[in-house]
Amino acid sequence: MPIITERFNLTTKGFTDIVDITEQVKKIINNHNLEDAQVMVYVAGSTASITNIEYEPGLLKDIPEAFEIIAPMDKTYHHDETWHDENGFAHVRASMIGNSKSFPVKNHELILGTWQQIVLIDFDNKPRTRCVYVQIIY
Ligand code: ZN
Repeated sequence: MPIITERFNLTTKGFTDIVDITEQVKKIINNHNLEDAQVMVYVAGSTASITNIEYEPGLLKDIPEAFEIIAPMDKTYHHDETWHDENGFAHVRASMIGNSKSFPVKNHELILGTWQQIVLIDFDNKPRTRCVYVQIIY
């Protein structure tokens, strides 16, 4: 089975910044004549994640608020005692969602629900440039 690997960069604000990357992923898929395929979206790094949400203003507040309960920013983390980079919360949050997500392509189309967008969430405690990989198996 052939594999295509492409990537794109984006900048984030950090602090659970949620970035809609659906159009970038679709653009890569549309550059290839794919009838049926499996598309894996991946971010390199241990403080960012790939998932899918309904990208709307309410959830853009609800998701950071939920993570503030699960892994609050003002808690002391053992990771920070080790590295003093003060982003223990970001590592814990990112590990819960994970770095990649796979999506099906059928009849040249990325299959997503009407209210489903692919997002990168950057949990780090500073702005970052992230490299997103899109790997296609067809
Ligand atoms: Zn760290």
